[in-house]
Amino acid sequence: MRTSGTNLEHARAHNRRVIIEAIRLHGELTRAELARLTALTPQTVSNIVAELQQADILSSHLPRKASGRGQPAIPITLNPASAWSIGIHLDHQTLLIVLVDLTGEIHFRRLMMVQKPQPGATLKLIVAVVDEIKQQLGAQWRKVLGIGVVMPGPFGVEGISSEGPTTLHGWEHIDVEAHLTQATGLPVTLENDATVAAIGERFHGIARQLNSFIYLYIGTGLGAGIFTDGHIYTGHAHNAGEVGHVVVQPNGRPCYCGNHGCLERYVSLQAAYEHCGLDPMTALPDDLLRIDPLLFDSWIETMLPPLRQAINMLECIFDAEMVVIGGMIPQPLLEKILRRLAPLHQSVRGRYLDDMRVKIGMTGSDTAALGAAALPIFDEFNPQYQVLLK
Ligand SMILES: [Zn+2]
Repeated sequence: MRTSGTNLEHARAHNRRVIIEAIRLHGELTRAELARLTALTPQTVSNIVAELQQADILSSHLPRKASGRGQPAIPITLNPASAWSIGIHLDHQTLLIVLVDLTGEIHFRRLMMVQKPQPGATLKLIVAVVDEIKQQLGAQWRKVLGIGVVMPGPFGVEGISSEGPTTLHGWEHIDVEAHLTQATGLPVTLENDATVAAIGERFHGIARQLNSFIYLYIGTGLGAGIFTDGHIYTGHAHNAGEVGHVVVQPNGRPCYCGNHGCLERYVSLQAAYEHCGLDPMTALPDDLLRIDPLLFDSWIETMLPPLRQAINMLECIFDAEMVVIGGMIPQPLLEKILRRLAPLHQSVRGRYLDDMRVKIGMTGSDTAALGAAALPIFDEFNPQYQVLLK
């Protein structure tokens, strides 16, 4: 993949981000490789690398073996501890807070049970944990880029998904971003789970090299995070990717949105809990690992046809390079589903093998929190996302 830069002086900030993004994607690069990949002049690359080394964002390493003429090739990497980010995932049962470094490694993790969380007490709890992180980081605190928050949403939108069994009641008029910014002094970004999971996947996961992919997030409901041409697509009112309420079965199971036969009535943890006799209000994803496997298998049979339909639609609409499936569903169970997914429907991606079209992404309880933690870093460093849009 190429990320092109520009040599215009006023685009210096953009070029910095291009350099950082290129190194992030490749792990390590020499100045010559950077110049080739970014289409920047060697002089521009040298100047920016020097500047970023001074800021401690990049580190140089021992030269690679000499390859004949010219300067020795010195590999350059990101310095993981040069920036930190906090990710918060709140749902109707749990609150998870993580601190990650620039490369996404977790340095602090706190999981708390919060049955039907109320805004006052929950925000107080979050601020107390962030304060604990602040104490732990000491002088490093000034290198924290911000906080990413994932909550059931959408917010301030009369959307079809704003009502449901997992809606956080009492939070409708709470400005979480403003409150946490004021209490912590850090920039705060709020997003939905599928979008942050897609950003996390592009940042740390198997979508690092992909410019166009769809992340299908199996949570309590079902959502999609959409990357097209390296941009996250959120739609006119921030509701793009609400694939859970695409009708796949006319006259099918009733959905709380008012329709019948919505996709997430078949493909979601909620649907699995109901099929397997678990109470959706109290069940946790890992409970599905402890039930009779044959019961779970019988749920898979019911969800495979709608899932294949969803993949077919997403492929034909977006012509994306890959559909990545992940979310809160435990990895062994998702692997079970994927093993039985073939054959996929014919689509614009039909000439590729099934296992190239659909892959497993990040799964498990940390997925959304890690994605949330990628938000401030993504904002800060992604050349296409921020700078080009402003
Ligand atoms: Zn629905």
